[in-house]
Amino acid sequence: MEMNIETSRIPDPFPCQVWEPADMEEAMMIKRQYGANAAFVAGGTLLRTQWEGGIVSKHEHLIRLDTIADLRGIDESERHIHIGALTRLRECGADMYIANHGATLYEACRHIAAPSIRNQATIGGNIASAVGDAIPALLVHNASLHWADIGSEVDLIQQDIVDWLDVVKSGRRSLHAILMGIVLEKQSTEHQQEITFFRKIGRREAFTPSLVTVAFRAMVDPLGYFSQVRIAAGGGSGIAMRLSRCEQLLEGNRYHAEMITSIALLANEDFVTYSDPFASEQYRQQTAGNLLAAGLWESIHSQIERR
Ligand SMILES: Cc1cc2nc3c(=O)[nH]c(=O)nc-3n(C[C@H](O)[C@H](O)[C@H](O)COP(=O)(O)OP(=O)(O)OC[C@H]3O[C@@H](n4cnc5c(N)ncnc54)[C@H](O)[C@@H]3O)c2cc1C
Repeated sequence: MEMNIETSRIPDPFPCQVWEPADMEEAMMIKRQYGANAAFVAGGTLLRTQWEGGIVSKHEHLIRLDTIADLRGIDESERHIHIGALTRLRECGADMYIANHGATLYEACRHIAAPSIRNQATIGGNIASAVGDAIPALLVHNASLHWADIGSEVDLIQQDIVDWLDVVKSGRRSLHAILMGIVLEKQSTEHQQEITFFRKIGRREAFTPSLVTVAFRAMVDPLGYFSQVRIAAGGGSGIAMRLSRCEQLLEGNRYHAEMITSIALLANEDFVTYSDPFASEQYRQQTAGNLLAAGLWESIHSQIERR
């Protein structure tokens, strides 16, 4: 197999070999050959901060993914929206297909990092990091992920994001796999109103990772009954999750004001997160509950005002 190598001209302290694979098979074979000494690079924005912060050691081999065709762009078919993994966050946060069929993701992409980072950062890099802020939003849209992996031959795998997160949590994630794209299912909103919101709390507005993110999506009928409720929380270096007890509180029930306090309290119990020097587990749980309560209240009241 012919491989394209470009030796980096960046002087010390970061000598490395930059690979420019022509296709996914080549990229995965290089990764398999060099293992932990090699990293796939999409926008490079997260890797850069990890290297600079000493969170991961600098890789000797960088495998560019932007040299592979067809990994970038947003398409629509009759029932789905397909987002290429190499699509920039800026493009996702400006795209009308995503705004119409993945409103929470659209909001998330507009609130990750600062504009200069979003110009370079990709949706695929955000997901592949396993802790990106786009993940709670994708959970509430029941997104599926399309991967290419390599064993004796190239396998193409489609997996719901919730299942992939379980694989990540169990430590069984393939290190050679390349995320090719994300698929959102279009959903009919006939006779119902869609309520969505994405909320994020960080130590500062930009340039620091979030402490807590929540995402919400539900349908509400004209009588105020909720259906298809999906709620997720994440943030920091925690793996995002669906809040199933919060979902059950709303599903099939009619909106009433006490739901606001109940959801805040329930999120405390539902959200499994962690403590670090910046925020305790309890702080994150309470914050998730407060963000959900505030988001729900605002969404319902703006809907009532529109009637
Ligand atoms: C100042 C600053 C602020 C930031 N703020 C936020 C924030 O608010 N929220 C947030 O979520 N993130 C934030 N980030 C992190 C980062 O910018 C985003 O997560 C971004 O989406 C990562 O995408 P990337 O293309 O740059 O990924 P890269 O850095 O290229 O890659 C990230 C990881 O994913 C792997 N990878 C990338 N693409 C693929 C693929 N297609 N298949 C398999 N593996 C892949 C890489 O090997 C690497 O391990 C911030 C970063 C900076 C520098």
